[in-house]
Amino acid sequence: MIPDPDSFEIAQERQKMKPCYSCGKPMRTIKDQPYHYIESGLPVVLHGITQYQCTECGEMFAALPNVKKLHRAIGNDICRQKKSLLVAEEIKFLRKELRLKAKELAGILGVTDSTVSRWENGKKQIGEGQDRLLRSIYLSCMADSCHPDQTCSGHLNVFRNLPAKRKPLQESQEIELNPQDWILSQVV
Ligand SMILES: [Zn+2]
Repeated sequence: MIPDPDSFEIAQERQKMKPCYSCGKPMRTIKDQPYHYIESGLPVVLHGITQYQCTECGEMFAALPNVKKLHRAIGNDICRQKKSLLVAEEIKFLRKELRLKAKELAGILGVTDSTVSRWENGKKQIGEGQDRLLRSIYLSCMADSCHPDQTCSGHLNVFRNLPAKRKPLQESQEIELNPQDWILSQVV
């Protein structure tokens, strides 16, 4: 019996397909279609990404190369390119990339916990100073050669160690230094 060339081709095509992660049915490959990276919580559109769609349940999957660097590129774009004040999703994204809890970010920026949650649910606009400080912290932490899986402690600790609700002193405090403090210092 001569095999039906059509069914043979279909069977071959099926073999190349990956199984769906949800239902196990074969998935078809989609190329050259923009991918809306909604998992980032931001309106990010990625191009040149291979996507897979389940032929049964319709579930979509994407093969994203180097997600860590992708997130750095998104954060960098937010901090450097965005001219208007940061919006809720951007603040949340930067905070998560810095691996900070809302409470920790509040302490670093010198605001209350509820202020951060109101920024992040869009009920309050971030202030000019905090917007600039958050961008600055993000960019300097990412520029630091700190381990990518850890929160950069250097810059953040400067702000963490400041007490809340400070008051100015009447007289300025003296700064005392010996030569070894600046000659041998690792701080630049
Ligand atoms: Zn499926």
